Amino acid sequence: MMADIITTINPETEEVLERYPVLKDSEIEEKINTTYEAQKIGRNFSIGEKKKILQKIAQELNANKNDLALLAQKEMGKPIEQGISEVEKCATTANYYATNMEQFLSPEFITTEAKKSYVCFEPLGTVLAVMPWNFPFWQSFRCALPAISAGNAVLLKHASNVTGCALACEKILQASLPEKNLFQALVIPSTKVNFVIAHPKTHAISFTGSTEVGKKIASQAGEHLKKSVLELGGSDAYVVLKDADIEEAAKFCAISRLINSGQSCIAAKRFIVEKEIYDQFVSLLIENMKNISLGPLARADLRNDLHQQVEKSIKQGAKLLLGGMIPENKKGYFYPATVLGEVQPNMPAFQEELFGPVAAVIKAISEENAIELANQSSFGLGAAVFTKDLLKGENIARHKLFAGSCFVNTFVRSDPRLPFGGIKFSGFGRELSHYGLKEFVNIKTVYVHE
Ligand code: NAP
Repeated sequence: MMADIITTINPETEEVLERYPVLKDSEIEEKINTTYEAQKIGRNFSIGEKKKILQKIAQELNANKNDLALLAQKEMGKPIEQGISEVEKCATTANYYATNMEQFLSPEFITTEAKKSYVCFEPLGTVLAVMPWNFPFWQSFRCALPAISAGNAVLLKHASNVTGCALACEKILQASLPEKNLFQALVIPSTKVNFVIAHPKTHAISFTGSTEVGKKIASQAGEHLKKSVLELGGSDAYVVLKDADIEEAAKFCAISRLINSGQSCIAAKRFIVEKEIYDQFVSLLIENMKNISLGPLARADLRNDLHQQVEKSIKQGAKLLLGGMIPENKKGYFYPATVLGEVQPNMPAFQEELFGPVAAVIKAISEENAIELANQSSFGLGAAVFTKDLLKGENIARHKLFAGSCFVNTFVRSDPRLPFGGIKFSGFGRELSHYGLKEFVNIKTVYVHE
């Protein structure tokens, strides 16, 4: 890849889709400046004006969902129906903020000795959104919609392999924004991100991506004392207890592992199963996983990394129970649904994130041991527990599993009404709900003395 050109490749055919010239330094500077000027106007939009903008965004998304899904399929291999639901979820989220923004941004009056004292929520300015390719629309809108609702502007640096999706996000948003520069896409390589973080007209950073890059972004943001929210990798544990409905559990586990061809931060990755039901669960999981069709992985290098993690785990003693081979003589970066059994805590399949359709199954000798193994991870994004005893399940979810979202008897998912984010190496800060909207505001105290 030439340094001044970003080339996108269809992961199903391995053919070049487009070549995009990257922005020159002077063009990056200009975009930062025009975004800054737009935010000075946009910060004063009334709730009514912003509500109309969000409703228009939802309409634009719904009207263009088929074309957008087709673009995601070409650029990163997402099956078309999944791309359509992704765009619909963005539209639902735009309507959610249109309906609830006024309540979220209402000042909070607090009784003190003052004549009047309250807390209000003011925008920070320009938020730089550095986003990954796996949900190319959802990640961008999940960040942009609450940020714009709060009166901020957004500059998007999207993953290079979905540059077409980045420009499509820009088109949808600019068609709905009276000040179109409130949202601009920066077609830049990752080497230019630090320049944008450091720029005095950038005020905050929202990063979604790998833990490795998240650490770099957080330290760059820290160096310039800029607020950052980090949504990073995960290795979600699904604890299956011996009193679970095993058929239902295996079904949910397979769906969660294979959504987006296994390339989801909150996909189920480690299945921790009590020994009494281990064999039955494994055979049901294999049956379910065999029956789900997959798209290609997004890039050749990602498939190679995944395959190495599988091979290394097998070398260390994991049992290959399904898949595990790169298809021969087949175009595209496909990887089969794969199940590894007898996985142990020292293996990559346990310690690292498996970003593809590979399930790691771990045998637990008791309920306590299952919970201990679930928490024995550097990540803490999501977790789930399966049991017919709902009170026990809730108690484990609430008090014993350490992760940002803990679900009982179903798979972890994001929902605009609920906060989303992680702990430990899965990052910090929250997106969605009123918590997400308040990440990029100045929580300002106003105090009026007699
Ligand atoms: P990535 O390699 O970390 O890239 C993410 C973004 O960072 C891309 O825009 C990338 O641009 C940019 N980037 C890469 N290296 C950089 C650097 N040194 N400095 C500044 N920016 C840099 O992650 P990915 O492979 O795209 O995404 C997969 C990861 O995202 C997984 O770990 C997944 O779990 C995580 N994820 C987390 C969530 C969540 O909500 N917690 C959601 C989705 C995905 P280029 O493409 O140009 O390199």
